[in-house]
Amino acid sequence: MLIGGEQDLPYERPHLSKGFLAGTVPSTRLALRPAEQYRELEIDLELGDRVLDLGMPARRVLLESGKTIGWDLLCIATGSDARRLPGLEGALYLRELPAAETLRSRIEHGLALDIVGAGFIGCEVAAVARQKGCEVRLFEALAQPLLRVLGAEGGGYLADVHRGHGVDLRLDAQPPHDADLVAVGSMPRTKLAERAGLEIDRGVVVDDQGRTSEPGVFAAGDVTRFFHPLFETRIRVEHFQTSQRQGFAVGRAMAGQGQPFAEVPWFWSDQYDLNLQYAGAGLPWDETVVRGDLARAPFTVFYLSAGRMIAAAGVNDHHTVARARRLMEAHQEVTRQQLADPMFDLRRALA
Ligand SMILES: Cc1cc2nc3c(=O)[nH]c(=O)nc-3n(C[C@H](O)[C@H](O)[C@H](O)COP(=O)(O)OP(=O)(O)OC[C@H]3O[C@@H](n4cnc5c(N)ncnc54)[C@H](O)[C@@H]3O)c2cc1C
Repeated sequence: MLIGGEQDLPYERPHLSKGFLAGTVPSTRLALRPAEQYRELEIDLELGDRVLDLGMPARRVLLESGKTIGWDLLCIATGSDARRLPGLEGALYLRELPAAETLRSRIEHGLALDIVGAGFIGCEVAAVARQKGCEVRLFEALAQPLLRVLGAEGGGYLADVHRGHGVDLRLDAQPPHDADLVAVGSMPRTKLAERAGLEIDRGVVVDDQGRTSEPGVFAAGDVTRFFHPLFETRIRVEHFQTSQRQGFAVGRAMAGQGQPFAEVPWFWSDQYDLNLQYAGAGLPWDETVVRGDLARAPFTVFYLSAGRMIAAAGVNDHHTVARARRLMEAHQEVTRQQLADPMFDLRRALA
């Protein structure tokens, strides 16, 4: 049984700040699976009802409607919620379909947009709105867009791209009081797990198979902080492919066929005609190496910690990022010279 607070069939959230806003992906193409597939898989859907309590130790969840449902094995996959800014509660926060519909209508009407937060969602919405001819002001508290993820090189590049497309980008800026959209990151939805007494550390703590501190209770997706054997630390990832692939791994573990989940996280972002891809866990780095010319895509920035590659971010350079990801998964060492040299095919280091 799949219980979900939203009315719609589970859908692909990444479109909400890209194709759905631009009108190229209609709402009929958002669903992860068609309704009949749930029937074929014998998954009962309980949509539009929220879980209020996991009902431990009796193992009976309580729903907002008053319904209770008994369980033997449970998976918490409550995802994340947009981080709210005090004083800006009335602005749009883009996490669910209804907010995307409101935003799309604003953009279709060509209305000016004030966006707070030049993270991925803020930058993607700014790109769509500019392409539709809206005036956009983008307010970012830090010195560059996406500074914490991409560093000064990648962030500086993105700042130039947005300004080049006519975005009025304000860096080191305070948010305006009447912002239209606030996109300043997200928080794991841990309330149910906290109430049930599970171990929490800025996310529901799970092992590499999604097991929480309570036997029979698993967790998967954005809400989890899981141990990653490659990075030798617990990480929390808020990206589509990892939540999906870790979700598969947790489902198998629940069915008694557990295998550690050890893939290097990967995600993409589309802005204007640029496709940005990133492989890594967003951990702190102490050195960067650039392959290509930062002024002109394609290029890739590699992030190193104590001489070891821990992440790569490429613009229109998906082959390099895919190879960097495989190198990280294979624990393969590459020299700085090899990383920096566009003529060196990284597959050669994968021997
Ligand atoms: C606008 C936007 C753009 C994005 N773009 C990208 C991208 O380009 N690339 C990328 O890799 N990732 C992107 N992401 C991130 C990606 O969508 C998430 O990583 C992914 O959706 C996480 O999946 P999840 O199942 O863990 O959580 P979610 O998708 O958040 O789903 C959790 C579900 O649980 C429900 N729920 C929560 N609490 C309860 C409760 N108590 N009872 C019942 N139901 C409950 C919620 O309503 C929700 O439907 C984007 C996200 C957003 C919002």
